[in-house]
Amino acid sequence: MIADDIRGADFHCHVDLDRDPAALVEACERERIATIAVTTTPKAWPHNQQWMRQSRYVYPALGLHPELVAERYAELDLLERLLPESRLVGEVGLDGSRKHAASMPRQKEVFGRVLSAAQSLGGRVVTIHSRRAANDVITMLEALTTPDKLLPILHWFSGSIASARKAIACGCYFSVNANMLETETGRTLVGSIPLDRLLMETDAPFTSTAGRISAPWDVIQTCDGVARLLAADAAVLRTTVAQNSKRVLAFAGL
Ligand code: MN
Repeated sequence: MIADDIRGADFHCHVDLDRDPAALVEACERERIATIAVTTTPKAWPHNQQWMRQSRYVYPALGLHPELVAERYAELDLLERLLPESRLVGEVGLDGSRKHAASMPRQKEVFGRVLSAAQSLGGRVVTIHSRRAANDVITMLEALTTPDKLLPILHWFSGSIASARKAIACGCYFSVNANMLETETGRTLVGSIPLDRLLMETDAPFTSTAGRISAPWDVIQTCDGVARLLAADAAVLRTTVAQNSKRVLAFAGL
């Protein structure tokens, strides 16, 4: 059960890529930040579970990153075998950038099989990468999932407003990080997300805050940044995002 005194929630953080994952887990406990620790290969699952076994705030998610599918396609079987153990799934998805175009057929096979397995198990929260592949990701969600069984979170979404609208219609939430607030397109996108679908993330260590690598507790500042962008009351928005966070975590039984 998730602690009920959380101050914020980071829905997409690569805890296992930190220099000292165990210390980061302890810091999240001290700071009382609920954190979804995404992984990029199912081989990372056992040691992530180990680091977070005692934690009331940090939870591992089972993943196979689309950028790694070319070299780790063979781990799909392992991912499917482990899936019954984890109601949090990610990082998974599609990456349509040129560098990863060659693996797109396999990326779609991996993402499709993960979505189908998660859908049939039910009660799964999935944090999804969709760089340059937003429409394909949303088409697959529409075809393979229903919001009563699988709750999708589009992480660091950079698709069009039209795509975002389709994603909203099929039940997606959006996790927003500080770097998204630094570009005009990112700000426009964040402004288009319904308040009841808004979550925070860091994607640490891939984002920075005040010139250093972001840490899960930076989500509080990010939420205040979103409030400024929307000209909303910061305290009210924090409460809304906290309610959304609890709803999503509850979907995964936390
Ligand atoms: Mn990531």
